[in-house]
Amino acid sequence: MSATTGSLIRAATARLQAAGVEGARLDAQLLMGHVLGRTRLDLIAYDRDPVTEAQFLAFEALVARRMAREPVSHILGRREFWSLDFAVTEATLAPRADSETLIVAALEYFKARAKPRRILDLGTGTGCLLLALLHEFPDAFGVGVDRNPATARVARDNAARLGLLSRAAFLVGDWATALGGPFDLVISNPPYIASADIPALDPEVARFEPLGALDGGADGLEDYRRLAPDMGRLLADDGQLLFEIGATQGREVSKLVETAGFRHVAVLRDLGGRDRVIDACK
Ligand code: GLN
Repeated sequence: MSATTGSLIRAATARLQAAGVEGARLDAQLLMGHVLGRTRLDLIAYDRDPVTEAQFLAFEALVARRMAREPVSHILGRREFWSLDFAVTEATLAPRADSETLIVAALEYFKARAKPRRILDLGTGTGCLLLALLHEFPDAFGVGVDRNPATARVARDNAARLGLLSRAAFLVGDWATALGGPFDLVISNPPYIASADIPALDPEVARFEPLGALDGGADGLEDYRRLAPDMGRLLADDGQLLFEIGATQGREVSKLVETAGFRHVAVLRDLGGRDRVIDACK
């Protein structure tokens, strides 16, 4: 057999496309890179390299999983966020590029102010938001809360791998219950998909990502209703509150945050132009 890395990637790209996978070429490259232990950039230089039988079989197994619409982040067990590398498991929502909007909003708010020293992340998942912020604010320490112990363990491992564990603590808990403040920055990316909308999400999300990180109840707003009333107590007077939201939720979540006593409330958009973040202070 004379298969090369390049010919296998091209054939897999066509099969993935036929299975309805978006970004099929990139995914085929990532899977081949994983099998060969090489970066995507390396693959271009090694396009004509023969693959061994073992590599061929391993690659085929990964492509089959991707054709069944398992997300690449699950297959590789990692995903990049804010140029940092995060471990991802079936207990965590994979980091999304859209959530970087929230990091940008924090950098903007604290540009002209004393940098935040105390950061709270409610529903931390992989820890990607909290750890990206600790990376950007070297004098800050952070608390990440998740209700799932397996998820909190992944976040802790990510903190350790990124060299941030001395400034991060992870707790298992139910949102802000039993937490005291004040914090200079409170962030949350709660579940916000309406329950009835979940089956219509991409199969990568609906079938493989944790329901507990997606399902925001009948109208998708259940968790904001639970979170908002505690925010006044948890935030320092000049602190910043950031919630990730779904594209149609700006008005409703703004109202909840205003009712909780925040007077300056803005809706920020992601790079795709969709409403993505509620940015509030007292
Ligand atoms: N943005 C995610 C999605 O569309 C949902 C994340 C969430 O519910 N917090 O899959």
